[in-house]
Formats: sequence, structure tokens, C-alpha cells
Amino acid sequence: MAEGTNKKVVLKSRPVGEPIPDNFELVEGAIPSAGDGQVLVRNQFLSLDPYMRGRMSDAKSYAEPVAIGGVIVGATVGEVIQSNHAGVAIGDTVLGFGGWQEFAALEGDEVQKINPDLAPISTALGVLGMPGMTAYTGLKNIGQPKAGETVVVAAASGAVGSVVGQIARIEGAKAVGIAGSDEKCRFVVDELGFDACINHNAPDFADQLAKACPDGIDVYFENVGGEVFQVVLPLLNDFARIPVCGLIAHYNATELPKGPDMTAVLMRQILVKRLTFRGFIVWDFAEQEAEAKKALAGWIGDGSLKYKEHVSDGLEKAPEAFIDLLKGGNFGKAVVKLT
Ligand code: NDP
Repeated sequence: MAEGTNKKVVLKSRPVGEPIPDNFELVEGAIPSAGDGQVLVRNQFLSLDPYMRGRMSDAKSYAEPVAIGGVIVGATVGEVIQSNHAGVAIGDTVLGFGGWQEFAALEGDEVQKINPDLAPISTALGVLGMPGMTAYTGLKNIGQPKAGETVVVAAASGAVGSVVGQIARIEGAKAVGIAGSDEKCRFVVDELGFDACINHNAPDFADQLAKACPDGIDVYFENVGGEVFQVVLPLLNDFARIPVCGLIAHYNATELPKGPDMTAVLMRQILVKRLTFRGFIVWDFAEQEAEAKKALAGWIGDGSLKYKEHVSDGLEKAPEAFIDLLKGGNFGKAVVKLT
């Protein structure tokens, strides 16, 4: 066993609605040892992702919930400090599912080596990791944008949305972002090169979005749901494709939204406009991981793909940063720097 202590954040209670600091607890334990076939990793960056809200709930989903008292799950990158696996050496930088803690003993077969000379290692959690791959596979397989078409994506300055719009541009489509502040929108247009970006908190959001999409919307990459979706729906063109990636506007909901039942409106739009909605989980396209990462790394290398990270310092900041992420407090891919 290594000397010292392992700080970890465990789930103290299940959030009801918006998570609060008291749902989390910072505890200390012994640093684990690498078992047979395992490696011990000192985590350097922890990824914060919206899906973690689902893991904190015990509602039936596509993945098991975190147990009360259990370390919260999450992807990490870090340095191997002990190895009982022939393919991984001490000093290697690896991507793994280390969770909200400083050290993790992980199966050697389940970590991926990262080349720290390729890009900052934190990008393995963002643009060169799961979120980048989500954008790439969801857009290519389901959105299928063609040159000249209009692609709209919300949470456009975030981990997934920022990549969606930039790939749309690379494919020759027009990219229109939606984001939660004027500052985020300026970044999306000026730095990421989207054609337009509309602030969904503006009082005339619906009018502005319609003006930014004079030819309608051919691909709506759905990251948020809620009121944004209601504004987008009437603008969809015949045969529009809607990759349903995330519904963050609903993750903290404890009941269905008030108001009339809109099912008939939605179904009629699907019918008369012959819309294609398809939900997906990134790992549905696991066999495209190498292709996606190669393409993304190539675009970063030639300057056609830019990214922004929102870095919080220290594991103790993770709960607050996660609570903020669900409310748009992050500006770029949310990560926690652990060392
Ligand atoms: P982001 O980095 O984009 O952060 C989340 C952003 O969501 C916030 O910054 C905020 O941006 C926006 N947001 C929050 N609440 C609302 C709201 N009520 N209305 C509109 N926007 C809101 O996160 P990710 O890029 O990691 O994830 C984006 C989406 O993709 C999430 O829904 C996530 O669950 C999903 N996802 C799905 C995957 C899959 O396999 N299907 C894999 C990875 C992610 P702003 O301030 O601009 O509104």
C-alpha cells in the first residue's frame, strides 16, 4: 500500500431536484494497492459530465446508480504509480474510470494510454475523449449534415456542442449555436467560427433564432430539451434529422412540466415533416472510437477544431463545480485538476 491518504468524494444522499453540497461528502481513506492485473493511478484530472446526475439517482436507466457512501463515478486521467499489468508501465499517463478521488486501482485492461506529447492530457476527457466522440458519432451517423444545410446545436460553448458546430462547418454546413449568455455566444462565433449563436435567455430568443435560420433547420443536435426544443421544433425542415444526445434541462426535474400535453403537436410535426429523431448513447458507436479520435486529433492539429476547458482546482471543488455545470456555470469542458 502506498503511503499517505486518498481523498474521495462520496454520495452522501440522493439529490431531489437540483443537487446541493450536502448530497456530497469529502472523505479520506487509505491509498489502495494495485491487485493482480491492476494498476494504481494518481489521478490528475477528473471529468465532470451531466450524465453523473443520472448516476446519483436510483431511477432505472441505462447504467447502475452510485451507491450511497460510494465514490462518485467519472473518467480520469492520471499517472501510473504501480503496475501489475504487463502492458502498462509506471510513469504512463492513462485514461480510466477512476471516479471522484485522488488515487484509483484500475484493471490494466480497462485503461487507455495517453500520449502527453499529442495534446494537454486533460483533452482526453473532452475534445479528444468521450464528449468529442459523442459529437462526432452523433452528428455523422444520425445528423448526417450536407454542405449548405443548417445545423443547430444548444449548449454550444460546452464540451459536446462546441465540437458539433465545428464539425458541421468542416462538412460545409452552416452552424448556428445556442448558448446561455452573450459572452458564451461571442466565443462560439468569434473563436469557434460558428455562423451565428443565439442567447436562449434573451427575451426575443425565438425571433432571433428564426432570423439566424432563414432556410429552416436541417439538423438539430439535441443537447438540452426544455424550452429550447419548443423554439426549435417549428423551425425544423422536412426530413430534418434530430440526434437526441442529452436533455440537460430536465435532469433535475422531479415532475413533468406544467401546461398542456404537447404530444399531439410533436407527433404531428414528426408525421407531416417526416422528421427522424434518434436517441443515442456514445458507446452505441464504440467501434468508431479510433476513427473519431483520429479525425478529432487531425482537426486540432491543423487548427480547424478549437476547444475550451473550464478547470476547477482541487477535488473539494468537484461538488460545487458539478452543481454549476447543470446550471450553465461552466464555460467549456468542465474538469477538475487534482494535483
Ligand atoms: P456542457 O459542457 O455543454 O455543459 C452543460 C451545458 O448545458 C451548460 O453549460 C448550459 O450551457 C447548458 N444547459 C444547462 N441547463 C440548460 C437549460 N435548461 N437549457 C438550455 N441549456 C442548458 O455539457 P456536455 O457537453 O458534457 O453535455 C451536453 C449534453 O450532451 C448533455 O445533455 C449531456 O447529458 C449530453 N451527453 C450525452 C452523451 C450521450 O452518449 N448521449 C454523451 C455526452 C454528453 P448554456 O449556459 O450555454 O445554456
